Amino acid sequence: YSLSIDTVEDEWVEISNEYMPASIPGYKNMSSLLGFDPPVNHVMVMGADLDLFVTTNQLALRERIEDIVKGINYIHRVAKIGKVSLIIPPDLISYVEDLGYDFYVIKPRYPNSIPKLVIKTIFKEPIPLGKETRDMGIEFISSEAVANLGCLAEGTLIFDKLITVIKKDYSTLHIKARVGTPIGYILDVLGIEVLEGDRIVIGGPMRGKTIHSLDMPVDYDTDAIFIQDRGEIIYASDTHCINCGECVKVCPVNVPVNMLVRVLENGLFEEAAKEYDLLSCIECGLCSYVCIARIPVFQYIMLGKYELSKMGEENV
Ligand code: SF4
Ligand code: SF4
Repeated sequence: YSLSIDTVEDEWVEISNEYMPASIPGYKNMSSLLGFDPPVNHVMVMGADLDLFVTTNQLALRERIEDIVKGINYIHRVAKIGKVSLIIPPDLISYVEDLGYDFYVIKPRYPNSIPKLVIKTIFKEPIPLGKETRDMGIEFISSEAVANLGCLAEGTLIFDKLITVIKKDYSTLHIKARVGTPIGYILDVLGIEVLEGDRIVIGGPMRGKTIHSLDMPVDYDTDAIFIQDRGEIIYASDTHCINCGECVKVCPVNVPVNMLVRVLENGLFEEAAKEYDLLSCIECGLCSYVCIARIPVFQYIMLGKYELSKMGEENV
């Protein structure tokens, strides 16, 4: 599977004779680093991973630290971003402690490495309601993408994406696949059989998205492929909330999920945002995971956010 280099080059942004690609394996919107408003003034290089069983960023940091240093220099020089620091789990301290960059150690417990929680942990302040980290001038970029920028700085373009494959028995392996490769082809090569009713997820078990065609290609941000055995799938139900409170207890940002789900079920998206903290949700999926009534809480939340963003666009 090959990718037209011409197509990619068309999307590059030239800055004083050097280039920032539109996308690079590990990060989809690289060139937008230059166009944010407010501008990015702090890049956080993610050496931790965002979902359970996924170890893509950790592996890239472990194996490509020299490329990462070159990539950080490239970010300083080309994107003119002064502050770059690294986010790592404790077992990677020895890889970064002598580099001279700030680094922050995040406890390896889900969902601690989701960017909004990282910011809250480091700065002891939550991101303001409805805002993203980039609204604070902070952008998170995976260690893999920064390593690939380091290669670019030396004249080598990388088109392969590092991926954690999570098999049906939850064992994992790492592969590299060219961006654009169909997921089905990868599973064939690995000898992973997909049976009727099995679920294929792009991403990890908590935050990933199910795909419905094995022709779906590897994208620049495909960190993981999770193959879930049909016997392991717990289907959502249309049972009403029994108000057990488990979702509220588990939510890392104290969203009143039991109340939120009631208004979302009724399509009251603005009320969900105004009264029940919909926009505080950091999309960890834990509420759905613990819901004894099997209400698809996370899906309701994502739908609510999507509908709100559409309303915002229509009001522009
Ligand atoms: S997904 Fe659920 S548990 Fe996670 S932050 Fe959002 S509301 Fe809270
Ligand atoms: S966990 Fe499910 S049933 Fe329990 S309060 Fe939350 S939404 Fe309701």
